[in-house]
Order: sequence, then structure tokens, then C-alpha cells
Amino acid sequence: MIHAQKSTAKFNGDAAYRLTEQFLAVAPHRWMGSPGHAKAEQFIRDHFKEEAAKGHFEADTFTANTPVGMYPMTNFIVKYPGKKDGIIVIASHYETNYWLRNINFVGANDGACTSALLMELGNYLRTHPPQGYSVWLVFDDGEESINEQWSDSEALYGTRHLAAKWSQDGTLGNIKAFMVADMIGAKDLNVNRDDFSTPWLLDLLKTAAKNTGHSSYIFKNETAVTDDHIPFRKRGVPVLDLVDITYGPPTEQRPEGSYHHTAMDTLDKLSPHSLQVSGDLFIEMIRLIDQR
Ligand SMILES: [Zn+2]
Repeated sequence: MIHAQKSTAKFNGDAAYRLTEQFLAVAPHRWMGSPGHAKAEQFIRDHFKEEAAKGHFEADTFTANTPVGMYPMTNFIVKYPGKKDGIIVIASHYETNYWLRNINFVGANDGACTSALLMELGNYLRTHPPQGYSVWLVFDDGEESINEQWSDSEALYGTRHLAAKWSQDGTLGNIKAFMVADMIGAKDLNVNRDDFSTPWLLDLLKTAAKNTGHSSYIFKNETAVTDDHIPFRKRGVPVLDLVDITYGPPTEQRPEGSYHHTAMDTLDKLSPHSLQVSGDLFIEMIRLIDQR
């Protein structure tokens, strides 16, 4: 018997994994100014044609003044209107490091899988429109530092630009939470307790993990990570970074793991199950923030 019913499909970790695979096949190398970067942009645009047709897709292009020259960068913002005033933002960077352009670095965990996670969240939000606050997905550019040595003034270009823009146009005051997804697709996923995140959002993440049965996947390690949430934190927005910086077997030189920012950050290190856990956490976070 066929009868119309509301879709009850969950966020699909397998679909997020397949999207990661496709994104990596189309745009394995995504540093600023490269042909692969343009392909990554097109992949994101193609995924959200339905939202673009409704006027809910925005490309925020700007010129970044980097130590190696002026480069165009683009943030993409996909909007799912809700029923009450206020916005929940979920962001991921999609580019790869300029300084890793000469090795075969693809950033499967670092940029690709979280972009795919957001695309699958988009699929979910299409069939489950927000009943509370609006949800905006942000694919931000220029998160990574230009040089190997991290410098705050030579990284986070996209989110610094967006935080300043949204401060000027008044959007910032409407943001209830700005959440970041970064490096949360690895097989041994454990989301860090990030000290730069807002305490009530960390508390809520603990509740979200409990409610979804994922408590064993969070807070094994405590860190304070400079990531895309920082420009918003500096402007007083409640922020939460879902990040797992431990990646691969630790070595003396790399106690956080040997895969981060190396050619070993590849698809085979990820799992659909970890993407399922991360997706479940974001969807439960949306529900809990709505109720607050
Ligand atoms: Zn990185």
C-alpha cells in the first residue's frame, strides 16, 4: 500500500561518506586559486540548485590579501528558513592548505568530509524544514593558514570576512549559535571538549550525545582549538567547535596523530559510522537549541 506520509528518513552517514568520495574525486586539491578550488565551488553549487532556485543560496565572494598575493575567496551560505526569529549556523571549510599544494594532500578528514556532512545535512533539511530557528549552512573558504606556521592573521579568511560582514548588516545579533564541523569523520572519532567554545553549548553537546546514544564519542580529550568559530567568539556570538584534532597514530613529532596535514589524510581513514554520529549530534543540537 502506498500512502503519503512525512519523510522520517534520518540523517544518512552512508550518504555523507559517498558525498565525501564524490567531492574528493572531483576536487582532490582545493587550495586557493587552483583549478580544483573552482571545481569544489561548482560541486557545492550543483548540490544546492534547489535552494538557489528559491533564492536561499548565497555566494559571498571577496578578495583576500594574503602573504602570497591577492586571491579571490568565496563563502557559500545555504538558508533553511524556520518558524521563529533567530539563526543556527553550521559551518565547515572546504578548501585545502596552500602550503601543502606540492604534496598529494586531499584533506579527506580536513575539509572534505565535513563539507559532505553539510551537504547531507542539506538533504535532511530539505525534507525536514526547521520548525524552530532558521538553519544556515556555511561552506567557508580560507580557513587554513597560508604558511605551515599558523598565524591568526594568515588564516580564517572566510569566517573573519563573514563575521565582519554580518556584524555590519545586523545578522550577527540574530545568531543563536555558530557551530563548526572540522575533522569529525575519522574512524576513531572522539569530539574534543574545546575550551574556546561557549560553556552552555558544550553542556548541550553533552546532552545531545546522551540523547543520541553517542556519549562515548565525545570529550575524551580537552583542547582549545583556533578554528572557524574564533572570529564569531570574538564578536560575542555563542560558538561550538565540533573538532577532533587527534588523527592517526601519535608520533614523537606529532603527538596529536600523524595523519593531520599530511598525504595520509585520505578517504580510507574515515567511516560512514563516524559521519552518522556527527550528523546525529548536529541534528540533536538544533532540536535542543530550539527548545532552550
Ligand atoms: Zn587543516
